[in-house]
Amino acid sequence: MSTHNYDYDLFVIGGGSGGVRGARIAAQYGAKVALAEEYRMGGTCVIRGCVPKKYMVYASDYGHKLDEAKTYGWDIQKGDFDFATFMQRMHKEVTRLSGIYMSGQTNAGVDVFEERAELIDPHTIKLPSSGKTVSADKILIAVGGTPWMPSADELPGAEHAIDSNGVFQLTKLPRRIIIMGGGYIAVEFAHIFAGLGVETTLVYRGPKVLRGFDEDVRDIVHAGLKTAGIQVITETVLDRIEKIDGQVLPYRVSLNNGMRLLADVVFMAVGRVPAIAGLGLEELGVALGKRGEVVVDEYSKTNIPSIWAVGDVTRRMELTPVALREGHAFADTEFGGTPRTMNHEDIATAVFTQPEVGTVGLPEHEARAKYGELDIYKTNFGPMKNVLNGSETRVFIKLIVKQDDQRVVGVHIIGPDAGEMIQMVGIAVNMGVTKQQFDDTCAVHPTMAEEIVTMRAKWVG
Ligand code: NDP
Repeated sequence: MSTHNYDYDLFVIGGGSGGVRGARIAAQYGAKVALAEEYRMGGTCVIRGCVPKKYMVYASDYGHKLDEAKTYGWDIQKGDFDFATFMQRMHKEVTRLSGIYMSGQTNAGVDVFEERAELIDPHTIKLPSSGKTVSADKILIAVGGTPWMPSADELPGAEHAIDSNGVFQLTKLPRRIIIMGGGYIAVEFAHIFAGLGVETTLVYRGPKVLRGFDEDVRDIVHAGLKTAGIQVITETVLDRIEKIDGQVLPYRVSLNNGMRLLADVVFMAVGRVPAIAGLGLEELGVALGKRGEVVVDEYSKTNIPSIWAVGDVTRRMELTPVALREGHAFADTEFGGTPRTMNHEDIATAVFTQPEVGTVGLPEHEARAKYGELDIYKTNFGPMKNVLNGSETRVFIKLIVKQDDQRVVGVHIIGPDAGEMIQMVGIAVNMGVTKQQFDDTCAVHPTMAEEIVTMRAKWVG
């Protein structure tokens, strides 16, 4: 490795999914690597995203499971949910995982700076807290994103609201929460809080949540919010948040439809933006997109020859497994002698609503625009488990098949464990599976997933 002129072969800014993978793999190839993280090792996913969120989903879902268990004959007193105990245990696990992320780096020989890093020039990084300056042959920007919040001009009283970082710092369970947004975070947390017994209101500016997803998925998730007891107010935004001291529900929220609501927590889940503020990218002339995302080529390279970027800061797909793979491909290419790009197509993903959404490939409207004629298969049924407990939860499966070659180009599942199912289906879709191959696969009985190989009749809409 060429370290003659520089302190490091690689300096990574950001200790989240993309950064740690890129740093570790590069170090394993023999590169001299440093990584700086200003907050906690693990990044959004581990510290204030996927991992703690999933624990909150589990906590919330236990409430439903306890109710269901009674219908199966269990003599269970539901009792109260001890939010403080749960949060303490959850944070303990987050801290344990953060430690593993740290030891993964140090064991690989990466020098970790637990402080902020900023760029001075294409090969020089300053660490303002310690006053150090280090140089590197290559720099990887993996700083991720940060929740976007409207300013006080855009939303008077916005300072009273929490964001998706603050939601993990709540010390007590809200009585009544108002969530603004209709994306992944808003719908997941609406279900989490409703399941924990919180009176939950979702305020969304559009007509139907999860814009961009398959229309059937949107319809079912939207209806499912209401079935879960969530008050859903559409085509509406928050106009003002006022604090009234001394009240149990201290926030008075005015909506632009004239409604006023009281709550003890107001949660803005209105998207995320790249966390590039103060990094020095503009000054260096690093090309940025409209929302501040770092523009990169398929090898994650920016317009500056010594600078690369991976993960949410590039806004290609804001998902942990994507960031990991982008970081890995970068390290293989630049330090492993095996140039490799990341394929961003047909990435399976889940939305952890209750029940979950699992999706891979294209929604119907995009498949139609791209391929023209399609065969659509849909099924919607009550899972066996629910017959005894009377639950209204249904399972929905949709296959989108390209008519000419019968390739399955989209699979959308809503139901318990849909996230687990779609991971498996994702393998087949990535292999170019055809509808005939689904039909040729023998079912596993009795399961919910078996319906995916027994859909014979085309949907006639
Ligand atoms: P999303 O982009 O998914 O959703 C943002 C929501 O906020 C949309 O409903 C949007 O409305 C609304 N919105 C945006 N701006 C405004 C505004 N000015 N006024 C009112 N509403 C507004 O972002 P999230 O923050 O929910 O999540 C960020 C990303 O993180 C996701 O896209 C996803 O990639 C990732 N993520 C993945 C998860 C998973 O894999 N399970 C879980 C959580 C996050 P509109 O639809 O009209 O634009």
